[in-house]
Amino acid sequence: MYKTNKNLSLYLSLFLFLFSSVTAVIVIIAPPAAWCAEAKPAIQNDFKFPPNGNIVKLPLQNIDICLIDNYKTAEIIIKGDFDISTAAGGSSDKNFKTAGRSLSLKITGISKSKPAVIKYYAVLKTLPYSHIHRDDKKIEAHETIGGLNKNFGPLSFFTYGCVLSPARGGADIDVRTLFCAAGPFADEKECREFCDRMRALHKIPAFLHCVREKKPECFFNAAIEYIDLKNKDDKSLSGGAPLKSIKLNGIKELRVSAAAEILIKNMEFGRGDRWHNFKDARYIGAIKVSGDNHGLLQIINEISFDELLKVVVPSEIEADSAHQAVCAQAVAARSEVLAKFKTRHTDADYDFCASTHCQAYGGINNKRTSTDRAVDETSGMIMFSNGHIVDTVYHANCGGLTEDSNKIWSAPFDAALVKINDSTLETVFNFSTDENGLKNFILNPPPSYCSVKGACNNPDKYRWKREFSASEIDDMIKKQYDIGEIKKIKVSERGASGRAIALQLTGARKTVTVYKELPIRKLFGMLRSSLFIIETIPGGPKDAETRFIFKGAGWGHGVGMCQDGAKGMAITGKDFKQILLHYYSKSKILDFK
Ligand SMILES: [Zn+2]
Ligand SMILES: [Zn+2]
Repeated sequence: MYKTNKNLSLYLSLFLFLFSSVTAVIVIIAPPAAWCAEAKPAIQNDFKFPPNGNIVKLPLQNIDICLIDNYKTAEIIIKGDFDISTAAGGSSDKNFKTAGRSLSLKITGISKSKPAVIKYYAVLKTLPYSHIHRDDKKIEAHETIGGLNKNFGPLSFFTYGCVLSPARGGADIDVRTLFCAAGPFADEKECREFCDRMRALHKIPAFLHCVREKKPECFFNAAIEYIDLKNKDDKSLSGGAPLKSIKLNGIKELRVSAAAEILIKNMEFGRGDRWHNFKDARYIGAIKVSGDNHGLLQIINEISFDELLKVVVPSEIEADSAHQAVCAQAVAARSEVLAKFKTRHTDADYDFCASTHCQAYGGINNKRTSTDRAVDETSGMIMFSNGHIVDTVYHANCGGLTEDSNKIWSAPFDAALVKINDSTLETVFNFSTDENGLKNFILNPPPSYCSVKGACNNPDKYRWKREFSASEIDDMIKKQYDIGEIKKIKVSERGASGRAIALQLTGARKTVTVYKELPIRKLFGMLRSSLFIIETIPGGPKDAETRFIFKGAGWGHGVGMCQDGAKGMAITGKDFKQILLHYYSKSKILDFK
């Protein structure tokens, strides 16, 4: 079985990079029904690729983070000097500039709105934009695109990202990505179903992509109240009572910038997550309120790049961790932002969201001196590999082995993000082909950087166990799959590190396969990782139910830097450069300052 899977992944990488040599294989697999009826255009190599001439100067000045969308009201408190500008719908703009006053700004409601028009596409292939022009890559790139176009086209093309300039030595860094997509589809559901079929029938990791055809319209009302007015001795002149109130109606966009911090009352965090809550949050930079794609409100924080890193790093690693590990995290955070810059939320008006999808960002409450120092000490440093900025992803604990990124996500193979051995032993582990070896690895854990004392203090992290009865499993599965009572759970495909990437569920009525690491973990109440083995203890003849025991290693997706491992390396005397070069293969550290 594992021999087959190895061949499959080999086939997949061949398909992605040497499409022409496997065209014959594609032809014998029928394309999805919906596409059969359409006449296929012949291979053509004169595709029109949208260029995208975004040039972004380094170091970055401002980044727009969407703090929240789908909102109807908001309350913002501003202390000290501030500047408010509003773009009224169709009429003139208003500006307020006030020194030394505190103010309450309430968005009281939406007066008129119309959602954006979104079209849904299935991306079949992404590739660096530079490949369609580079002499050593363009034949391969055009053949790949031509093959996809012949079988699943006509394709649509989108170019995202930007050219970062100037890099060290005057050379620009091209982070543009070309999306080759089928569609548009009638709706989101049809597009998702097409992506699933592409994955199941053709092993093409297709994913849904939203394109905004028409911007939303949203007009809202606001009220400004000076909540306090102080004299030079810091004595309140208003006695705390509102001194003045201004009403603004039919605003399209509102921007507040303050010399000091801005507080947003009752900000929502972790929507859809277990830690979902509301609390007052403090920000610096500017706050912009405008209409989102639903026609409701979005609140965007415009912040400088280094300030963003200083806020993000302490929410990603404990500020009191060994200093070299914190420095490694700072470089990783910087590279990650730049690698993804202008490639995310391309259907919206901001660069990143504030959730874990982009960058967990909760305002300036988290700022710490030690992490500020790490950002300053590594200023301008990024991870670079084979002509691109490494998308320096990380996770809490790898369990001793990290994973290839293309096994976890719908991403092209990246030599910088491949399985590495985090064990301090010299042993080579290869678990995509060896189930017994994996069992031994999980049950008899080797010493690793991420098991070093002081690096990993949670006993439920490096190795963990979850146990469920058959009826508990039934309850979890039936929310998504109607397969009847569970009979068997089997990992049908593993990544290079042994992480489950396809899981077969056999029920009394039918068998389904769950693909990808995250859906597999979520199915069982968010397992620590997908690096697990399953032991089944059969039920007795009468009462006892069958039990399923998941025994696993590590926490998180397992790609890129292992944060506990980084701490372990720092504790054992390695510096941040050694840490980064250990986790990001075939990479170098570039200083753009
Ligand atoms: Zn996001
Ligand atoms: Zn590790």
